[in-house]
Amino acid sequence: MPNTILLASANPHKVEELKQILEPYGIELKSTLDYPGGVHVEEDQPILEGNALKKARYWNLFSGLPALADDTGLEVDALNGAPGVLSARYAGENVTYAQNVTKLLHELDGMNNRKARFRTVIAFVNGKSEHLFEGVCEGEIIHEPIGDKGFGYDPVFRPNGYQKTFAELHAEEKNRISHRGRALQKFLEYLKM
Ligand code: IMP
Repeated sequence: MPNTILLASANPHKVEELKQILEPYGIELKSTLDYPGGVHVEEDQPILEGNALKKARYWNLFSGLPALADDTGLEVDALNGAPGVLSARYAGENVTYAQNVTKLLHELDGMNNRKARFRTVIAFVNGKSEHLFEGVCEGEIIHEPIGDKGFGYDPVFRPNGYQKTFAELHAEEKNRISHRGRALQKFLEYLKM
């Protein structure tokens, strides 16, 4: 098991979440904030796996540390899998979460099939060793946003088996069943091997 891992993200929520998970294993977590000389890696690949690998490869080379990177997409069946890999910029470049949600509800207006899933791919790169871990959370898109927790599409995503949206669930509860939580659990199982 490595002593130190670099998370290819400057998102303080992700860094804190992973820190808490890795600490019990005695693994120190660094982030891109610890390496101000690094560049922003463009997420321009057509699939989640490509973006996650691209980020992890760059940061592994740059820092010399084993590097972890993730990419997440919301896949809506009635929209043929959109917004998918474009989830962050569905309504355009530099838009707010609320603008993306508004566009999604607009695209689904009048549609009965609301089935959707979040999918996260985590890439772990340590020199020539590269591994991918996937986590999926199935659910549906509701008609109006509900809840003020979380971020992104959380207020309109209701996971299967729940009467609440992700934005109504506490962080621990969401992490237990979420796409990212599940992908991270697989990564942890790999580390323990
Ligand atoms: P990223 O790959 O984690 O940066 O996610 C890309 C986009 O997917 C984000 O900008 C959000 O809009 C959306 N997203 C990712 N994870 C979640 C989540 O857990 N809940 C809601 N939206 C999410």
